[in-house]
Amino acid sequence: MVSNEAALPPREAMEFDVVIVGAGPAGLAAAIRLKQLAAQAGSEISVVVLEKGSAVGAHILSGAVIDPKGLNRLIPDWKEKGAPVETEVKTDKFLVLTKRGSFRLPNLLMPPLMSNHGNYIVSLGALCIWLGEQAAELGVEVYPGFAAAEVLYDEKGAVVGVATGDMGVGRDDEPTANFVRGMELRGKYTFFAEGARGSLTKQLIKKFDLDQGSDPQKYGIGLKELWQVAPERHEPGLVQHSFGWPLDSRTGGGSFLYHYGDGLVSVGFVVHLNYENPYLSPYQEFQRFKTHPAIRPTFEGGKRIGYGARALTEGGWQSIPKLVFPGGALLGCAAGFMNVPRIKGSHNAILSGIAAADAAFAAIEEGRAQDRLEAYEEEVRSGDIARDLKPVRNAKPLWSRFGTYLGVTLGGIDMWLNTILPGIGLGFTLRHRKPDYATLKKAADAEPIAYPKPDGVLTFDRLTNVSFSGTNHEEDQPVHLKLTDPSIPVAVNLPEFAEPAQRYCPAAVYEIVTDPDGTPRFQINAQNCVHCKTCDIKDPSQNITWVCPEGGGGPNYTGM
Ligand SMILES: Cc1cc2nc3c(=O)[nH]c(=O)nc-3n(C[C@H](O)[C@H](O)[C@H](O)COP(=O)(O)OP(=O)(O)OC[C@H]3O[C@@H](n4cnc5c(N)ncnc54)[C@H](O)[C@@H]3O)c2cc1C
Ligand code: SF4
Repeated sequence: MVSNEAALPPREAMEFDVVIVGAGPAGLAAAIRLKQLAAQAGSEISVVVLEKGSAVGAHILSGAVIDPKGLNRLIPDWKEKGAPVETEVKTDKFLVLTKRGSFRLPNLLMPPLMSNHGNYIVSLGALCIWLGEQAAELGVEVYPGFAAAEVLYDEKGAVVGVATGDMGVGRDDEPTANFVRGMELRGKYTFFAEGARGSLTKQLIKKFDLDQGSDPQKYGIGLKELWQVAPERHEPGLVQHSFGWPLDSRTGGGSFLYHYGDGLVSVGFVVHLNYENPYLSPYQEFQRFKTHPAIRPTFEGGKRIGYGARALTEGGWQSIPKLVFPGGALLGCAAGFMNVPRIKGSHNAILSGIAAADAAFAAIEEGRAQDRLEAYEEEVRSGDIARDLKPVRNAKPLWSRFGTYLGVTLGGIDMWLNTILPGIGLGFTLRHRKPDYATLKKAADAEPIAYPKPDGVLTFDRLTNVSFSGTNHEEDQPVHLKLTDPSIPVAVNLPEFAEPAQRYCPAAVYEIVTDPDGTPRFQINAQNCVHCKTCDIKDPSQNITWVCPEGGGGPNYTGM
């Protein structure tokens, strides 16, 4: 935002029926469904989708093994229409890793809801590109390269749309020669489909107290590399998950390895962000995971072709906030519809887009605007999303309370009970106690972790890997990682927590550098940011706010 906003010309405004922020599976599903409903009813509806990535899919990072139930409902003939959903899951493997060994859990032990039978291994980014094309064909206006930077309210406090950020603002908050004023996009309803820890979603949750009746949202950080592996190492349709080493049993998380397409393997590692040791580096845990004797052979003779990271929501059922407010709704992972034990959220993202579109279309047909879409909230709380999330609601809190081995076992028993006695399970809902920023131990009480050096073949340093994310930001722009109090990193976080931002950021954005006079200084290399949102979640002082940089900046993922 420029320093003297009042001196700027007013923004131009465009009117739509529905404004959608975010071209992920949730936002695009909502857009497509709105147009489908209008076509069926023989009426017109105007829909716009804003996407901060330079192209649709550029900021999408996922596993991804998808449960096709959302896609089946949205576009039943997706196969005939050429959706990039080709590799059907053939084999499901669950490994427990110890420092030197591993054992496979028999599939018979796994609760049926964990089976990937009938699911597909995809690039979610590629699927979003295709969904974006379907939306555009139906007449949706899809605008990549435009970040929604501000929520617009009317005089009664209802949401009436969003404004895109001004472009060409310099690092000193002054307009440059390239200055272009942002636009207002106004709608009868505005959907926020920003994914996990959306920057506008966070403001809306606070403004409308949407999380008053729910537990704190929980998160994980997911790091991923895409590999082209040697043909003899490729097993198309293999889905392999692991937990255990290199994480200790107090730290939740695990890995995924999905073989798909033409010699491709998606390998990823998730660390639950309620980890306690401030010396832990999720990135380094991912790198050392690949060196395990049960994992390393997959990558021999292969090459890493992509890298990225993204936060995912883990709170599940008990952390879902109120979804609707006057003039708008939260969709997909902005609301937290991720099924943690299944590591799947894209099906619920699509289902939520469909449900929100159904509610908005009915409301607009009745001549309504800017009110609460309660029908959407009711559908989520009683429909397919509820049926998916309720039976697994205790898995994550059990893991957090009892550690990996006992917690996962108890979670498995609860999910089995839910299968045998639907809707009953353990018979109660465990709460999430603390937000993730409040779980770090003091550095003085924690053990530093010595990580091995990267070998440049199987393991890589962060900056080399970031170059495989295609990340690019206009350099002359205000830093988009805002510190509420610039003194806190050095005055508080460094002595108390050894400033964990140096380690949790997967893109080496934060550094403590020492000035010539020996004074430590907190340096923010904002241009490296891959938009994962981990700093906004995990900073122990809650002093970092992630805001949208200029639209079009950030990672340029392909095939993630
Ligand atoms: C490592 C990892 C592995 C996963 N594995 C799986 C899996 O195997 N199967 C599965 O089903 N799910 C998986 N998930 C979860 C899945 O990716 C999410 O549930 C899904 O992407 C959520 O969809 P969404 O549309 O809500 O949000 P997103 O996919 O995050 O999309 C949000 C979009 O909104 C854009 N945006 C955000 N803010 C703004 C703004 N202010 N202005 C403009 N644009 C904005 C973003 O750039 C992005 O394109 C995984 C997630 C991660 C991180
Ligand atoms: S600066 Fe924050 S949002 Fe950006 S990559 Fe680092 S942790 Fe993620």
